[in-house]
Amino acid sequence: MSVYSDILAQLSARGNLRRIPAGTAAGGETVVDLSSNDYLGLGADPELQRQFMSEESNRTLPLTSSASRLLAGRQEEYASLEALLEELYGRPALLFNSGYHANTGLVSALAGVAGCMIVADRLVHASIIDGIMLSKAPFTRFRHNDMDHLERILAKESPRHERLIVIVESVYSMDGDRADIDALVALKRRYPNVMLYVDEAHALGVEGPRGLGICRGAEGYGEIDVVVGTFGKACASMGAFAAVSAELKGFLINSSRSFIFSTALPPISAAWTEWVIRRMIGMDDRREALKALGRRLHSILSPLQPGTVVTPSHIQPLVTGDPHKAVALSAALLEHGFKVLPIRTPTVPPGTERLRFSLSASISPGQLDRLEDFFRNNEI
Ligand code: PMP
Repeated sequence: MSVYSDILAQLSARGNLRRIPAGTAAGGETVVDLSSNDYLGLGADPELQRQFMSEESNRTLPLTSSASRLLAGRQEEYASLEALLEELYGRPALLFNSGYHANTGLVSALAGVAGCMIVADRLVHASIIDGIMLSKAPFTRFRHNDMDHLERILAKESPRHERLIVIVESVYSMDGDRADIDALVALKRRYPNVMLYVDEAHALGVEGPRGLGICRGAEGYGEIDVVVGTFGKACASMGAFAAVSAELKGFLINSSRSFIFSTALPPISAAWTEWVIRRMIGMDDRREALKALGRRLHSILSPLQPGTVVTPSHIQPLVTGDPHKAVALSAALLEHGFKVLPIRTPTVPPGTERLRFSLSASISPGQLDRLEDFFRNNEI
């Protein structure tokens, strides 16, 4: 047996072996998908795509860029999307091919210069962790959402480094809880060599004015140095952006390796993203519907886990604390018509294995009534 099959056998014994799940999209109309990041239901809406494709100018857009952004001949669709984002965010924006490209490229470039230390929330996404590793900068993590712990670290480290990059997510991908953006800005005011970096992957489209995320509506928005948004979730597309100062944009174009050394997204993809965002900003009705579903889901899941504080968000966990249990519960739910995927280590810390429920505005309240019936009739 090779070392690789040994590792697979160990993962299997621990209940942590991952497999690509069977698709449920085709013919799976009876399955309620509580596992996607299509928070506004736009990805599942064929009418939107039909409308986009009904315009001759969209249908004929290139399906490949054939080069990285710095070498691509065609720039209109990227420039147009960046211009829209600049208008919405009141500062320049730079596109990336995905959220993973954005975080690895941004963090490694920003923290790769001498004198930087990174201070990240304990639960930030793997793409941020990988960016930290690539940067080779010293780093530490503060306890999840614990502003006192963060402040103790800043008090100690701020005099020792030229710059401290504090990295958080505005809505956390596995728990659905939020960072306290106002408190982070207040800390930055006390420690002026702090740079604030906020990943809004799970807030874009859902939170804040016109769905532009939590930072955009914050009183201290202008003091948040880097706002990252991703298009693969509520925006029903692919790619990501960073809203930054003109100075930082220039720096990133010259130093962010995932931006420089990877083929740009197809122009049709950038055009579709822009098309969706122009509509998404007016969808407060869908955002309201999603909030109501979040409250309803909370009334179902919260009583099942006394002692665990769950935010009534569009993402909510049901922590089993055991990978085997999470897998078994997921299978039972699928049998009853609900797709909810188990989340295991290393995505979440050991002992916090869970089912991750994520909502979409296209789900009906009646479907959540059926979910409540499932938990009434089944042991967890
Ligand atoms: N940031 C966060 C917080 C995420 O949850 C994810 C993906 N789940 C990403 C970044 C990566 O985004 P993408 O899927 O576009 O690579």
